Formats: sequence, C-alpha cells, structure tokens
Amino acid sequence: MRILITGGAGFIGSHLTDCLIEEGHQVVAMDNLVTGDLNNVAHHRSNPQFEYIHHDVSNHIHVSGNLDWVLHFASPASPIDYLQLPIQTLKVGALGTHNALGLAKAKGAKFLLASTSEVYGDPLVHPQPEDYWGNVNLIGPRGVYDEAKRYAEAIAMAYHRVHNVDVRVVRIFNTYGPRNRVNDGRVVPTFINQALRNEPITVFGEGNQTRSFQYVADLVAGVRKLMDASYNRPVNIGNPREMTILEFAKLILQLTESQSPIIYNPLPEDDPKTRQPDITRAKAILSWEPKVAVEEGLSRTIDWYRSLGKKK
Ligand code: UDP
Repeated sequence: MRILITGGAGFIGSHLTDCLIEEGHQVVAMDNLVTGDLNNVAHHRSNPQFEYIHHDVSNHIHVSGNLDWVLHFASPASPIDYLQLPIQTLKVGALGTHNALGLAKAKGAKFLLASTSEVYGDPLVHPQPEDYWGNVNLIGPRGVYDEAKRYAEAIAMAYHRVHNVDVRVVRIFNTYGPRNRVNDGRVVPTFINQALRNEPITVFGEGNQTRSFQYVADLVAGVRKLMDASYNRPVNIGNPREMTILEFAKLILQLTESQSPIIYNPLPEDDPKTRQPDITRAKAILSWEPKVAVEEGLSRTIDWYRSLGKKK
C-alpha cells in the first residue's frame, strides 16, 4: 500500500512510519516540523519505500500518485504546545482535517483520524467509553485542542456519510515512549528528564489527578488493527492502568533511582481530574489490548532519554 502520514516526523507518526515500512508499504511522511523532528525518520532517508514532504496540512495538500490510506496525525499534542500555538492547533484540526479528507476522497483512499481522549474534557463519567459525549470548556485554554479534535471527528463522520469515505477514528489516551521530545512539557518526558538530572519533580496541584499511560508500541498495534477493521465509529486506544500523578512521580523516582525532591506547582486551568480509557470496544472489535506494563515501557523510555543525554 502507499500511505500518507500527516505528522509523519512526529512522535507517534514516526513510530507508525517504522511499523508500515517494516511491513513493506510505501510511506509518504508529511510534516511542517513545528513539533515534529526529522531525526525521528532520519533512519529511513535513503529507503526507497520512504518519501518526505515538508508541508503544513492546514494549506491545500498535493500528493502525486495513488494513495491507499491517509493517516491524519498532524497536530500539536502537548498542553504547552497548544497554549503557545492555539490558532495553528485549531487550524490543523479544522482546515488540516478538511484538506486531508478532501485528499482521501480525491484519491479513493481510506482515512484514519488521530483523535484524543481530550474530546471527553474533564470527564464526568469514569472510565470513559466512546459513547460518552464529554465535558469540555470550549472557551478555556485547552478548548483549542479539544474542540479542534471534536470538529475533526465531526467532519470525518460527515465525509463518511456524505462522500462515503471509509473513515477510522482512534481516540488516543496518554501515550509515551522514545522520541517524545524532552521539552514537550508532557508529564512523562518532564518527570523522567527532571529525575535523570536530579532536578525537582514538578507535580502540578496536589498530584491527585489521575492519568492512564500507554506505551507507544501498544498504540501503534491498536492503530494498525483499526486500519484492518471495517469499523467507522471512534475507538479508544489506551492503557486502563490508572494512577495519580503523585504516584507516577514516585514511580519515576524509583525507576531512575533519582534523588530529586518532589515540588508542587499550580495546577493548570481545566486540567482534567481523572482519565481512564474504557477499552471494551477495542477488545471486542480489534481483539486489542495493551501488552506493555507501565514499568517496562517506562524503563525502555528512560533508557532512550539516557542515550540521548550521552549523545550530547
Ligand atoms: N503534570 C505535572 N507536572 C508536569 C507536567 C504535567 O504534574 O511537569 C500533570 C498535568 O497537570 C496533568 C498530568 O500531569 O494532570 C498529565 O499532563 P500531560 O501534560 O502529560 O497531559 P494531559 O493528560 O494533561 O493532556
């Protein structure tokens, strides 16, 4: 197959690129490198199965030749990124998704949208099943990302209904692993790198908000299975093992054998209090469930950040 991945040089897009190239497919990675990094795909540079196109998908997308799939992963995805890039975040979710859908329609390609657990906002239902409609503060600072992705889901479903585009929607829960930028601002790279430098671990609030963390290889396996399933409604892909952020900070300290103290900083506005995927649907439709325990995935990720430190 020939597959376009928008955000192909990003954290998740590049892991998906690896998986699809490994399977023998042609991958066209498209990125504007606002949060992506060419180093993530540098190992494919001389591979004839791989093409890179530098482009911002919020503008009309041109790809020559046939395409079997458009996988739309382009977007800032960290709270600090979308606070700094609120308009770009809205544009890529709205205009970028529209352009990517238009391209899929023109090429007769299938379309997969990378959506997010943020569509559930600060959820009032726990854990979150796909048929929960969410609790989003649309005018708050995180609203730019949440509403962009909610619009993206809505327009994907509209293209499915009106133009018969064969769509998939994956709602991705907190994901970590190698290639997640050191300064990304999200809790996993932040805590690991603070711990490795013996700097204070910055827990926001009292740390009793919860998250459920999945290793990137589990996510890629879930996305790959969703591509093969004839299922057009959203599917949660995440690891249901839930913990508080304070527990998580202590786990990172233990795994890195760090001496860092824990300090408490103010909780960002609209920070969701709980988050845990209900993966009943993914289990039933995809026969998918996460395989990598958080301790194992974190150990691999810590090794990767350590190796980055040594390269410098
Ligand atoms: N967090 C924290 N310290 C940090 C970064 C994040 O305590 O230095 C918390 C944040 O407030 C949130 C959780 O960790 O409750 C996960 O944050 P992240 O930015 O990784 O993603 P989110 O799930 O909020 O989108």
